[in-house]
Amino acid sequence: MIELENVAYGYGAKGDAPLLRDLSLTLAPGSFHFLTGPSGAGKTTFLKLCYGALKPTQGQLRLFGDDVAAMPRDGIALVRRRIGVVHQDCKFLDHLPVIDNIALPLTVSGQVMEDQQGNLDDLLTWVGLGARAHAFPPELSGGERQRAALARALILSPEVILADEPTGNVDWEMSQRLLHLLIALNGMGKTVMIATHDLMLIRAAKAQVQARVLRLSGGVLQAAGADL
Ligand code: ADP
Ligand code: ADP
Repeated sequence: MIELENVAYGYGAKGDAPLLRDLSLTLAPGSFHFLTGPSGAGKTTFLKLCYGALKPTQGQLRLFGDDVAAMPRDGIALVRRRIGVVHQDCKFLDHLPVIDNIALPLTVSGQVMEDQQGNLDDLLTWVGLGARAHAFPPELSGGERQRAALARALILSPEVILADEPTGNVDWEMSQRLLHLLIALNGMGKTVMIATHDLMLIRAAKAQVQARVLRLSGGVLQAAGADL
């Protein structure tokens, strides 16, 4: 689904040492990965590469078999619909109710919200926000926001879900609830990658699902130690 071959990425000038280098990884269909590493290590940047928001400065990145370097803009847009992203700091339009915020990707991709009402309602219920559909984003708790962000990432039925610190601002019970949703999605065959520095979360997940844990540090990607 997502294949990186000796990928490097740097925000700076060409001569500067890149932030990320020698990244080689395949996210196979149905796999479950964690991405960990200290703050500033490049986890968000790595996820941005994985959903085509950034192009490698070196190496090859293939999304669903196609090389992103050779992909036209609309090709990237199509690929992005197959990848649901849960952003760390999920941005909602505060003047629109939760249900409309979750439906935004539908509207943007030209689908009529009324045609999808059943799916929307099911999705809201599934993430436990059925009763909050008409609330406005500023009224949501941290856990509700994160579940709304997950629902929005799922609305186009993506094959891959990339989540950036999905449990960053929520308590343990809520983080377990989010984890269960992500594990359930993986059980439905979806490919999942979660960037987190929450080692407790990773341990809890490993007791429930076969997950590979990768660590970004010093610009390179390694398998995490067995102590995890
Ligand atoms: P993490 O998610 O692991 O905390 P990030 O990928 O957010 O790491 O950031 C890695 C480094 O890249 C940080 O030093 C950050 O300041 C820098 N960085 C992130 N985005 C940009 C950008 N758009 N331009 C320049 N530097 C950036
Ligand atoms: P996150 O917390 O999701 O890693 P940040 O708060 O670090 O995101 O960054 C928010 C936005 O600012 C992102 O689009 C990121 O790419 C950008 N950014 C982060 N660090 C820098 C930087 N040093 N210079 C320029 N842009 C940056």
